[in-house]
Amino acid sequence: MRLGRFRTGEAEGWGFVSGDAIQPVTGGPDLMEVLGDRAALAGLAEGAGDGIPLGEVDLLAPIPDPPQFVGIGLNYRAHAAESGAPIPAAPISFPFFNSSIIGPDDPILLPPFTDEVDWEVELGVVIGREARDVAVGEALDYVAGYVIVNDVSARDIQKSEVQWSRAKSFDAFKPMGPWITTVDELGAADDLDVELWVNGQLKQSGTTSDLIFDIPTLVSHMSQSLTLGVGAVISTGTPSGVGFARTPPEFLASGDVVTLEIEGIGRMTNPVEAS
Ligand code: ZN
Repeated sequence: MRLGRFRTGEAEGWGFVSGDAIQPVTGGPDLMEVLGDRAALAGLAEGAGDGIPLGEVDLLAPIPDPPQFVGIGLNYRAHAAESGAPIPAAPISFPFFNSSIIGPDDPILLPPFTDEVDWEVELGVVIGREARDVAVGEALDYVAGYVIVNDVSARDIQKSEVQWSRAKSFDAFKPMGPWITTVDELGAADDLDVELWVNGQLKQSGTTSDLIFDIPTLVSHMSQSLTLGVGAVISTGTPSGVGFARTPPEFLASGDVVTLEIEGIGRMTNPVEAS
């Protein structure tokens, strides 16, 4: 099941993505109220309206205001190596600010005070049930599904500050989409291809089987320290192939187009513009 938010003209809503169309849920609960309720979702899917072609809607970030939006750093061995960092002994977590979230096709904005804006394709885990002190073996019961996140990062700022949150949370630095693919389709998402292209050139190609800390471990780990709310998103880190680690380094420029794809979820594209 694929759960998406969309806008048509003035109206916004959510619905079930099927093939190249989205079937809107009209007059029902908001997506956040039923995110982890598989029976409710199944009932709403049966009563959903006729599909609107995806070409006739603007898709929006499926979780525009998560109760927590957590980044995980250096969670693929090859990315830790290209970053010159040791393999972490425990997950490295940090918050993103929600004001940075944009949807598919929205422009990534380059502020004038950074010249080193970089890309990071990541699998985002969406929490469906309030999760506190959850065991690894039960963690998937608390997952609603998965989204694609681009952890856009201003490297010059990131390197100049101890905390990474600001450098990764500028306005329009967190494309999220194109929809949530539910956990019943992807399970622990432990063997999915994760790829990113800039202007059609493949830059990142990894697999979630290379995660240092897998999804159940990350959900359990975070839930030991804080209560993850319904709609919380944990972005699980990026594979190798980011711009700053390339020779010579590469960064995003106005006019670029970034495309992300994760097997079993789909594809998301965002243009890049000067702000
Ligand atoms: Zn990242």
